[in-house]
Amino acid sequence: MLKAIKIRIYPTTEQADFLNRQFGAVRFCYNTGLRVMSHRYRRHGQSLSAKHDLKKLLPVAKKSRKYGWLKEADSMALQQACLNLDHAFQRFFDPKQKGGYPRFKSKRGKQSSYHCVGVRAGDNWIKVPKLGPIRARVHRKVEGRLKSITLTRTVTGKHYASLLFETEQAAPAPLKDIDAAKVVGLDMGLSHLAIDSAGRKFANPRFLKQAQKNLKRKQQALSRTKKGSANRSKARLLVAKAHERVANARNDLQHKLSRQIVDDNQAVIVETLKVKNMMKNDKLAKHIGDASWHALIAKLEYKAKEQGKHLVKIDQWFASSKTCHACQHKRGAMPLNVRSWECPACHTQHDRDINAARNIKQQGIIQLKAEGLSVSAHGGLRKSGTSPAAA
Ligand SMILES: [Zn+2]
Repeated sequence: MLKAIKIRIYPTTEQADFLNRQFGAVRFCYNTGLRVMSHRYRRHGQSLSAKHDLKKLLPVAKKSRKYGWLKEADSMALQQACLNLDHAFQRFFDPKQKGGYPRFKSKRGKQSSYHCVGVRAGDNWIKVPKLGPIRARVHRKVEGRLKSITLTRTVTGKHYASLLFETEQAAPAPLKDIDAAKVVGLDMGLSHLAIDSAGRKFANPRFLKQAQKNLKRKQQALSRTKKGSANRSKARLLVAKAHERVANARNDLQHKLSRQIVDDNQAVIVETLKVKNMMKNDKLAKHIGDASWHALIAKLEYKAKEQGKHLVKIDQWFASSKTCHACQHKRGAMPLNVRSWECPACHTQHDRDINAARNIKQQGIIQLKAEGLSVSAHGGLRKSGTSPAAA
């Protein structure tokens, strides 16, 4: 099984300089590759394979006088840049993934480089090629073979390393018999972090809301500055810092929430299409909502996998908010400000979001059964074993 940890690292000034150049080389490979492929695509309507064709160009470039400086960087990192570009194009061409056309990487954005040969890690250091040990804060020990290190630098200038380990431990086999009482449907929104089919609402905490407000304010201030001015770069840094605070707080929260949800259940059902539909108006809201939903789903997914549990993504559109979960009656359009309603057919009172979560759960159970799993409907009252619910 693969396990990843992310740690903060503290390169010296010289190391940071080297990393800066290396990030530049990685970015250069990605962007140049993208330029070459876009040209080919536009002119001839055909796609090159970044994996095969561009990787072959690397050694040629390194021998040339103009691009000889690429030799300074870890060659695996440059190859990985080509692979990443390849993946970006795959996401673009795959109708299921609906990725946008790959975009150029900016030197102002987050930087990263991937290393998989000659990587090591100790108690308070990590080692990547072409550099001495970099001081690090390793907060958690992972048994296993270190497979790769991905270095990143945030917009605010902090360095991190993601360490990927291969452990001896095998991933548990996926559960085959699922207790319907331990299937949870999640409805995710902007007003709440998540609402589950049992009727629990996980609110966005106050500090997160405040951080988001602060971010919005800083962003507005940035938009008022003049392009290319010194004030603009100052404002940009403030936005990046506010952004980082929001992201860290949210990340923390999502780890706790996903841990709790996965520990308490055997299958978790989420809806993935809604993300795109619901936040068309407010760009910032869309940005925040988008990023956080995908991140939460990703956390639920790997935590579920670690325990042999299931995460079901419902990617086909269905009217989760407009369908009565009790009798399946489908009502007409319902504006976002309608928070509760009564089913005209069976007169059940619905909380909009809880009803949606219940429909998501039902839809998920259908999908689990379609995958050949058994989902028992008798809840926590199983005869054998001790179920915490029965207790
Ligand atoms: Zn009804």
